[in-house]
Amino acid sequence: MIFLIVFLVILFALLAVFIGLHINQKRYTAFVSENSLCFCSLKEINSRFTFYPKINYDQYHTYDNEDFYNTISCDDYLIYQLQYQAQKISEQIEKIRRNEVEYKKYLDQIKTLQLGNFSAPIGKLKKEKLLKIEKRLCHKAKLSAPATQFYLTVTLHRSNINGRTYDSKTKTYSAETIFMLIKRLRNKSGAYYRDREIWDAICRVERGRVSNKMRFSIYARDGYRCRKCGISQRYATLEIDHIIPIAKGGKSTYDNLQTLCHRCNVEKGDKL
Ligand SMILES: [Zn+2]
Repeated sequence: MIFLIVFLVILFALLAVFIGLHINQKRYTAFVSENSLCFCSLKEINSRFTFYPKINYDQYHTYDNEDFYNTISCDDYLIYQLQYQAQKISEQIEKIRRNEVEYKKYLDQIKTLQLGNFSAPIGKLKKEKLLKIEKRLCHKAKLSAPATQFYLTVTLHRSNINGRTYDSKTKTYSAETIFMLIKRLRNKSGAYYRDREIWDAICRVERGRVSNKMRFSIYARDGYRCRKCGISQRYATLEIDHIIPIAKGGKSTYDNLQTLCHRCNVEKGDKL
């Protein structure tokens, strides 16, 4: 019985101390957030700065065809994607550059702030404790660093026809390299790129868009027969042909692909 009473007394005492400390802590925090000149200035500075969020433009692709995986480089893949995403990506690069400039300004401004100045007398409050709390509050209120460097990574995977990945290659590009590629892509007439390397890269990736999976579904769609002479796969080797050739701006889409036998394909060559 006595033990129980002693135990309860100790418990209540501890609880009282704990509540007391908590109230005390709240009093200090309230005083600092109302009267700290550093904290108030920091909030005011914060309200004048906004940073752009980081948007990820990393590129991924999986090839289920060994040849395409080996011949298509990360550079090729990036060039191909930049045909469609150059605008969005260069906007993002500009935003990240603006973040860099603005964040530097922000750091310069908050560097001038000094701890330990209060707009009201501190009375019986302990200076040391106030400073500790002020430091913590200001640290928490500081805006976190935005993205200030732009990088884009291209990753190409090699998989089997069921999609199981077993090899990959990756390369990271800086804003400068991307801008240089975008500039080269602007050298264009109609659907053609005058820069030979750029054009070849785009053709390689376009050709590589015919995955093995797609190839077999085109054969199936065409009844495993040459669409020109009608010979079946029992008597000839079937191939996939781009109706409008890639070199003439054709795409690797279902309606631009057909099954031809090797002979008809060679005969057709790059003609429409
Ligand atoms: Zn044929």
